[in-house]
Amino acid sequence: MADAEIRARAEAIVDRLKAAYPDAECTLDSDEAWKLLVSVRLAAQCTDARVNEITPGLFARWPSVDALAEADPAEIEAVVRPCGLGRSKARDISACMRMLRDRFGGRVPDTMEALLSLPGVGRKSANLVLGDVYGKPAIVTDTHCIRLSRRMGLTDQKDPARVERDLLPLIPPGESNAFCHRLVLHGRAVCSARTHPRCEACCLNDLCDKHI
Ligand code: SF4
Repeated sequence: MADAEIRARAEAIVDRLKAAYPDAECTLDSDEAWKLLVSVRLAAQCTDARVNEITPGLFARWPSVDALAEADPAEIEAVVRPCGLGRSKARDISACMRMLRDRFGGRVPDTMEALLSLPGVGRKSANLVLGDVYGKPAIVTDTHCIRLSRRMGLTDQKDPARVERDLLPLIPPGESNAFCHRLVLHGRAVCSARTHPRCEACCLNDLCDKHI
């Protein structure tokens, strides 16, 4: 498909999703950047809903970067265990908070390079922070983004970094962050991985290649 054609289709998809899901916000609850980093780490192989159940208690007990940096990782593990992979998540969260405290003055950095230097932070998490916290163009290639982009024919890749590379030139920079949040909402509501996609009820029916 010609570049101009796929770009026009991608922009139409952006507009349709915007109309269908006007409020596109991250489904992880957090009111501070460092809390978002913690929540994102906990969300690996866990539902956002489960993470949102755990984090209020976690942040009440350790209410700052410094407090969490000084916490015993075994105590963090005991709290985050319901999210799965408790030991490695607790270890990463502890190391990440210590690095934030010691190298970044307690502030979450605003560049991809610096974010990727933090323990437990990959491109997906870094893009989420860049988009949600700092308002920068960011493609968050989570499972919904990859599945829907492939089904729609916006990429034929599976690797998150390659999907990100394919989507970046297609999605207007100012829309990319919200677009990814909307893919999550649309994936859950209509284009699920668990059930057959409900194409007949989908607002993207005429724009989608339906590579199912
Ligand atoms: S048309 Fe079908 S495959 Fe395409 S996004 Fe909608 S539900 Fe998913």
